[in-house]
Amino acid sequence: MRRPPAARRVLEVATASALDEDVLKEARRLARRGAVGALALEGGAFAVVTTPDGAQHAGWSAPTPTAWEAVEAGLLADAAAVRALLGPGPLEHAGGALEDVLADLVPEPSGWEPRCTCEEWLLPCPHALAVVLALADAVTRDGWTLLQLHGKDRDWVVAAEAARRARTLLAEVDGAQPSTISGVTSTCVRRELAM
Ligand SMILES: [Zn+2]
Repeated sequence: MRRPPAARRVLEVATASALDEDVLKEARRLARRGAVGALALEGGAFAVVTTPDGAQHAGWSAPTPTAWEAVEAGLLADAAAVRALLGPGPLEHAGGALEDVLADLVPEPSGWEPRCTCEEWLLPCPHALAVVLALADAVTRDGWTLLQLHGKDRDWVVAAEAARRARTLLAEVDGAQPSTISGVTSTCVRRELAM
């Protein structure tokens, strides 16, 4: 299974924050065994991790990129990317520029904060690391996972794309002479767009 750049960056969160190789090995064992339940995404990734000793609620909070406007502009930069985002089903093999922008949605490892209900006093514990490994797999299967992590869905793409088109139209109208747009002034168009 080819891992896209975004999934590789998520894996780096695990390798960069694991305190030693043993804890990472244990996390990989948990993830392989299917111990990580369904991921809850928004502001991070969280899941119930079931072990022989009981279930733990583990996960990571992840900051939203500060330069969100640049990320949004990158996502909406070309029509093929928007079509891929709005298509039904998972966002697989996004390719090209969209793949790079998705990778930019992964916060730096130092920005992620692990949490767990277990009694390990050293974080990240194997449960939290297993969640981030499961997140990397989810990102590999569907690039949308990263947008959901930041609370974005297809409705957001539709609204952002509509706003981008309106801004482009307004810029064109403002740049045109009133006579070239058959008597409709930019103020009128602006009012129409605001409705
Ligand atoms: Zn734990």
